[in-house]
Amino acid sequence: MTIEHNQLRLLPSVDDLLQFPAAHTLIVRFSRPLVVRAVRASLAQARVTIRTGGLCPPAETLLAEAQAHLSQEQQAQLRPLINATGVIINTNLGRAPLSQAALQAVQQVASGYSNLEYELAEGERGSRHTHVRALLQELTGAEAAIVTNNNAAAILLSLSTLAQGREVVISRGQLVEIGGGFRVPDVMLQSGCQLIEVGTTNRTRIHDYAAALSERTALLLTVHPSNFLITGFTESTPLSALTQLAHERGLLVMDDLGSGCLLNSEQYGLSHEPTPQESLAAGADVVCFSGDKLLGGPQAGLIVGKAESVARIAKHPLMRAVRIDKMTLAALEATLRHYQRGEANTHIPIWRMISARPERLASRIHTWITRLQEQGLVARTQRGESTVGGGSLPGETLPTTLLALDAARISIPLTEMAKRLRLRHTPVITRISRDTLLLDPRTVFEEQDEEVIRALLEASQ
Ligand SMILES: *Cc1c(COP(=O)(O)O)cnc(C)c1O
Repeated sequence: MTIEHNQLRLLPSVDDLLQFPAAHTLIVRFSRPLVVRAVRASLAQARVTIRTGGLCPPAETLLAEAQAHLSQEQQAQLRPLINATGVIINTNLGRAPLSQAALQAVQQVASGYSNLEYELAEGERGSRHTHVRALLQELTGAEAAIVTNNNAAAILLSLSTLAQGREVVISRGQLVEIGGGFRVPDVMLQSGCQLIEVGTTNRTRIHDYAAALSERTALLLTVHPSNFLITGFTESTPLSALTQLAHERGLLVMDDLGSGCLLNSEQYGLSHEPTPQESLAAGADVVCFSGDKLLGGPQAGLIVGKAESVARIAKHPLMRAVRIDKMTLAALEATLRHYQRGEANTHIPIWRMISARPERLASRIHTWITRLQEQGLVARTQRGESTVGGGSLPGETLPTTLLALDAARISIPLTEMAKRLRLRHTPVITRISRDTLLLDPRTVFEEQDEEVIRALLEASQ
């Protein structure tokens, strides 16, 4: 009892601790109130330790604890990580990383004022929608273009404008859930249009659509199935046949492409991903797609199509609620310029990852293994598959070389190892398959290689 009492009396006061130079450094970095709070927390912890039989810690220890607490607490909640999963476009991990040019554009536009809605030539109010219009027209061949906050918003806005209170005909095979609970039928309901399902899950023919048309029909909707494949006995109607049918009846066709790939995916060893150019050439009135999937830009919804439909969409009151932000617009313009200059595959991170040379991936893994081996951590290579992800190219993979760490080679369970990697200052996200921890270099930027090696060495200790 008396020992405990003596130890408690030895504890310094908050003011005593704040006199130390180490405390002063913390105050400069984190502010006085936050340091006082952290110091109080260390003292409270020390009292608990003493009451359970421990000794009074030295002041240095108390301050070190306060510092650890502050560093932890002041870490950004939303922060960068290293994606070693090999899934190139992963919604959970922030989808597409931006190009250097896109980042610079964001910084320049966001750190000061801009002509976001200002006509420089006239010195008058302008529209934020003019900045990427011409670029999108040039790249897709569209008559008109407008952008929103994301593709879900683009769909909601387009359907609300073009089909509210009327019927929208869609194939049963395209009533998909995209992820995060985004379901096509729900969005249609929110847009105030009535869903008319036609055909069957695996087969929908042109006469299924024709038979469903009535005087209440506003448009025919096609949706890219994105994250799944229906294989085997299947049949879908070509878009050109749908647009012909619709236009004969004075109706519209809207195509939700999901990813919206501006490049020819077949040139990268992938199957064909439909492009907005093709949908427009097939006669679609409105085509919408995401900015942060295969486009490789910021979160945005791109709407391209016929001048008349896009003009109506632009005037809808919901447009204001789903409008794009200036930082996004800056990043989007810079991203689209890479396509205009024909440098998308060398400047846009996701396209660099997609087109990474297999020999290069293998040689990086060999370097990783050598470096780990030098420190006594034994790993091996394993052939694997990277995936494009992001609701594009379902089932499509790219051959890669993985770093494989076998459970038998490390002293801690693999789940613990993966957790330690996730809980680092810069988390490293890996995957476990059977008894092996796997890292795919395709989605790891080369400048992150050193950090990955350090993380593996530290986490395996
Ligand atoms: C991803 C996707 C959406 C939603 O796009 P966001 O940009 O995430 O809002 C809509 N439709 C399809 C087919 C998709 O793949």
